[in-house]
Amino acid sequence: MTGLVHSVESCGTVDGPGIRFVVFLSGCSLRCRYCHNPDTSYKRQGKERSVEDLLAEIARYATFVKNAGGGVTLSGGDPLFQPAFTRALLRGCKEMGMHTCIDTSGHLGGNADDAMLADVDLVLLDIKAWQPECYRALTSQPLQPTLDFADRLAAMGKPVWLRYVLVPGVNDRAEDIAPLAQYAASLGNVERVDVLPLHHMGRFKWQELGLEYTLADTEPPTPEQTAAAKAIFRSAGLQVH
Ligand code: SF4
Repeated sequence: MTGLVHSVESCGTVDGPGIRFVVFLSGCSLRCRYCHNPDTSYKRQGKERSVEDLLAEIARYATFVKNAGGGVTLSGGDPLFQPAFTRALLRGCKEMGMHTCIDTSGHLGGNADDAMLADVDLVLLDIKAWQPECYRALTSQPLQPTLDFADRLAAMGKPVWLRYVLVPGVNDRAEDIAPLAQYAASLGNVERVDVLPLHHMGRFKWQELGLEYTLADTEPPTPEQTAAAKAIFRSAGLQVH
């Protein structure tokens, strides 16, 4: 079996616990206005790779990342865009005894069957906005599938790290964040929240692809705005980073 892989990173430090071997899979069902990998989402670029080939590469790093308290993270794009490939990679990683994460918007949570999720130790779940109209304006898709997936993960007791990209003027008001924080706290399986300030580092890719970057005039949040957002999550009783 083969899949479309955008790139890999052998020593990732921000996509799960410890040192991660990160596989960026091509393809995504969302169209986030701030996407820093539009070459995997808006344009499905990448290299066709076989499961065996990729697992052989991961195996070369297995001892190192395991000793560093890490594992493998499947990111993207969205790994649930290529569910059969993702399922096979996760199975191979578990056979190597590795800790596994998927980094997903949850929009395609229906593509993750229980057998796949049994091979996932941690879900990095990106909830882009709480208000459905805001979610759609940011991503071009409805919010509900993500919430359905979050509810399912909670029912399974699957550990989740919630990720929230903070976009000033779009999803940074208290009324945008507080209900999401309450919801996340109510799930019981959200181990931590990462508030990620908007940045424009992927902007050049939009230009290269001939796509309009509609957040060009939106400034990244100030440290004070980011701290205020974190405080709202914290006040709901969540661990925040
Ligand atoms: S979910 Fe991630 S990869 Fe997909 S469009 Fe949004 S930011 Fe880009």
